[in-house]
Amino acid sequence: MIIPDQAAILCGGLGSRLRPITDKTPKPMVPVNGVPFLEHLICQLKENGIFKFVLMTGYLGDQIQDYFGNGNKLGVQIQYSQGPAEWETGRRLHRAKDLLQDIFMLLYSDNFVQFDLKKLAKFYADKKKLLCFIVQEKSNGNIRLGEDGVVELYDKTRSAKNTGFVELGYMIASKEIFKFITDNNSSFSDVIAQLVLEHQVAGMVGGDAYHSISDPDRWKLTEKYLTPKKILLIDRDGVINHKAPKGEYIDSWDQFSFIRENIQGMKSLSNSGFSFIIISNQAGIGRKMVSEETVRSINEKMKNALEQEGIKILGIYVCPHHWEDNCFCRKPNPGLFFKATKEWLFRLDKTIFIGDDPRDCQAAYNAGCGSIYIGDKSELKDLSIDEQPCGAFNNLEAALPVLEKI
Ligand SMILES: [Mg+2]
Ligand SMILES: [Zn+2]
Repeated sequence: MIIPDQAAILCGGLGSRLRPITDKTPKPMVPVNGVPFLEHLICQLKENGIFKFVLMTGYLGDQIQDYFGNGNKLGVQIQYSQGPAEWETGRRLHRAKDLLQDIFMLLYSDNFVQFDLKKLAKFYADKKKLLCFIVQEKSNGNIRLGEDGVVELYDKTRSAKNTGFVELGYMIASKEIFKFITDNNSSFSDVIAQLVLEHQVAGMVGGDAYHSISDPDRWKLTEKYLTPKKILLIDRDGVINHKAPKGEYIDSWDQFSFIRENIQGMKSLSNSGFSFIIISNQAGIGRKMVSEETVRSINEKMKNALEQEGIKILGIYVCPHHWEDNCFCRKPNPGLFFKATKEWLFRLDKTIFIGDDPRDCQAAYNAGCGSIYIGDKSELKDLSIDEQPCGAFNNLEAALPVLEKI
């Protein structure tokens, strides 16, 4: 499997919807928490192992080059392919051709999506298409996906019915796509459309929300999302409280008892400034062994008790489904993680999930975050290398040295 180590980023847009700031500043240089948006993007790619960049600049491109230079400051190599502001994206890419490797990443410079390059590269290797990108479900999108992930329809006008997905950039491309790119002043979306007609595009569905600076409201939200936060994700049964015997569920507050060492750990982490989000499977609801109302009331009492100890619980996310329902929210599926990040605007790849079941580690991997396992290492032997936690500990207090570094 080839993992690309080069990214080409389209940086030439006018950013009209961000005026007046883009009257004097090119869109990729719009500040987000004190640094240009493009810097966040370059750092994210670098964290994924990409160290070579080609910035395809246009409108006010000198400002981009003046700021980033050869990339030394960020520990990466940057080359530039400059063209006039009126050039469309297809022509910009055509101009950069000689600087690009056989397989490279291609991005727009206005979206930020949590992603794992290894997962995307594996998808690219499996699909054997010239272009693969991350897509997200959206009712009035521009993409229709076939069962096999191959893009069946690409509609840049967004007027076609039954599309269901939108494309977010974050592409892996083979240099063979240049067979479809000419020197004409046309948009890269025309190239995608042509590649789709040749069945040469596949879309990997990403469940995490994407963020963008395309208009002032989204820009503000992106700024919040990219602000570093001290949030930890944590399981309930077996971590916060003693589990019910196998096949049974905690169905009253009397049966609920805290695991003291873990609560001590949560207290220490709270003193270091962390807040918690609880993510819990409660199949007892779907199996009609405990009511949703009872679970809610127990969780409310738990939250109050924890808060009295100075432990801040931001939210409690529960999957009420039976495992036979095959829902997207029951761990090891990542649905509740995506819901939590949408509401609390934190980066999943910058946080850790603490759990006591190997499925918790799998769920964390599927969501794109790391994990800490509370329990014995020997229980993790069925997990793949990628799914392994950052560490296995007898209790949360023992895990503090790892967690406090986050
Ligand atoms: Mg558990
Ligand atoms: Zn569920």
